[in-house]
Amino acid sequence: NAPVIAVDGPGGSGKGTVTQMLARKLGWHLLDSGALYRLTALAAIRQNVSLDDEAALVHVAASLDVAFQPTPEGEPVKVMLAGEDVTSDIRTETCGDNASRIAVMQPVRDALLQRQRDFRQEPGLVADGRDMGTVVFPDAPVKIFLTASAEERAHRRFSQLKAAGVDVSIDAVLEEIRVRDERDMNRSAAPLKPADDAQVIDSTGLSIQEVLDRCMAETGQ
Ligand code: C5P
Repeated sequence: NAPVIAVDGPGGSGKGTVTQMLARKLGWHLLDSGALYRLTALAAIRQNVSLDDEAALVHVAASLDVAFQPTPEGEPVKVMLAGEDVTSDIRTETCGDNASRIAVMQPVRDALLQRQRDFRQEPGLVADGRDMGTVVFPDAPVKIFLTASAEERAHRRFSQLKAAGVDVSIDAVLEEIRVRDERDMNRSAAPLKPADDAQVIDSTGLSIQEVLDRCMAETGQ
């Protein structure tokens, strides 16, 4: 079995950036599991599937035609849905919100499980999500739970949105983060929590480089 570094935590904790940098540095594969939930939400909307129709959503999740294409350093991985570049479409607040709504459904999670495990290939995998260390790769030799205060995460998200030209208030972003946290932590299907054997890293007040250094120290690489 190829080694896995499981990185879990709430949205805005810096997981996405750190896991991309870790994967590049180690030359390992990367799994952005959140993208699979976002893609399921996007594909459902495009196929006119209601977000209440669990059976139909399971079908959408099981039949997702998705490809992740590597990009030059510093650029986000290109996400293709049925041959179409949806990299920015899946990053909208609506798509994130819909993703977290369908992520509470255990059958949808089950439909995405094997697809996630298939990313585990030599020389190794860096897996980014909410349940990488608890459910998808419980035997991962390295588990990190990356967190940060809701205020800090809201500030990071707010800066990103502002840079992208989106007109939002910091209060609206903070509220959205609180709602999303609440839903992720209190659902019965794979609730967001650190695995018993995870190393918890609080990135509040740390730079990306400092977080990366701490993660590298955990991997022993
Ligand atoms: O990480 P990201 O914000 O892209 O994930 C979108 C949503 O998908 C999360 O709010 C969460 O509800 C869900 N998710 C999940 N399990 C994962 C990854 C994401 O439930 N492993």
